[in-house]
Amino acid sequence: MKHLYTFLFCLPFLCFAQDKAEKRLLKKADKIHAKAYTVDTHADAPINMMDMEGFDVGAKHNYDEDGTQIDFPRMKEGGMDAMFFAVYLGQGKRTPEANAEAKEKALKIFAKIHDAVKTNADKVSLVTTAKEGYAAHKQGKLGVFIGMENGWPVGTDLSNLKLYYDLGLRYITLAHSFNNDLSDSSGDPQGAEHGGISKIGEACIAEMNRLGIVVDVSHLSDSAFYDVMRLSKVPVFASHSSCRALCDVKRNMTDDMIKLLASKGGVIQINFVADFLKKPSAEVAVSIRTIRMQVQKADATPEDKKKLNAELRQIKYKYPSDVPTVKDVANHIDHVVKLVGIDHVGIGMDMDGGSDVIGVEDVSKIKNVTIELLRRGYSEKDIKKIWGGNTMRVLAAAENFSKK
Ligand SMILES: [Zn+2]
Repeated sequence: MKHLYTFLFCLPFLCFAQDKAEKRLLKKADKIHAKAYTVDTHADAPINMMDMEGFDVGAKHNYDEDGTQIDFPRMKEGGMDAMFFAVYLGQGKRTPEANAEAKEKALKIFAKIHDAVKTNADKVSLVTTAKEGYAAHKQGKLGVFIGMENGWPVGTDLSNLKLYYDLGLRYITLAHSFNNDLSDSSGDPQGAEHGGISKIGEACIAEMNRLGIVVDVSHLSDSAFYDVMRLSKVPVFASHSSCRALCDVKRNMTDDMIKLLASKGGVIQINFVADFLKKPSAEVAVSIRTIRMQVQKADATPEDKKKLNAELRQIKYKYPSDVPTVKDVANHIDHVVKLVGIDHVGIGMDMDGGSDVIGVEDVSKIKNVTIELLRRGYSEKDIKKIWGGNTMRVLAAAENFSKK
């Protein structure tokens, strides 16, 4: 009994001490974000910019009201200095006509991103190199990099690469959830088609190396990943993938893949999609997968997508224990660090494309990741590498190779 009284007497002091420790962590995180250059490699904001009626990426939105996760004011608020906006197209037919249509759609997305940057030119810059990113940061401006998710708009005409490069493109995820002309995907229900990277895909990688466009191995089949490792003359990254050892899905990378990627100077940027961080129960996994395949079909209308995304969110409320927290994110970061060291992990949250972590509901809350990393003993130097330094190293390597 005496111990109980002692405990109860001390409880307010313990809480006070804990509160103080938390405040200290927050202060430290603020300090880090004020100095560090933070970059996220996979942002699907352009989906909302294209499909959501009246959506203005320059205005502040509320996640609880409309489910959106990214806009420029929330990036500023959260201490998110730059994001790779994705020119994303769900895979459609691969006929010459369909390829031409994909190219046309991709060009519209590029134009939309350029317009948004121009409209917000006092606060935002389009950036294409690490140097430009740092320069914008110095001026107090946010950076928008451009990546392409799914090489479908490249089609079979590699001259498209230079066209997109000139529009600011600096990485391409060769395939999305279905096989295309360049590569096999990890998600295609038909399985392998090329046995990895196709012949055109090989030439595509050589041209991307020549131009200075980073090859993104996220979404690719394992064989395609190993082909990229053999073919690319410069380091590559996985713009939004997590660890298969912690969450056994084909979209994630095995330890062997992470080791090989790191041995060639690459980076895995941890994805915040719930079922890539923490494996849901079998029942939930099937419903999520079915809905997601429907969302990713090229002919899904904005209304279809809205309805399907609402269904996805419903699943979250029905099974809250399946939804990961910021601790799960840090577990994946820890895993990579233990496996290959601090220089090969980054962050690609996949916001507005399925990112779903309790505590990091939108981009204004990314400091919670930093706080968790501090809690686990990561130094300021480590955190700077995770939040952007490693990614910028890969981008600079691609650029330097292209200049040779
Ligand atoms: Zn993706």
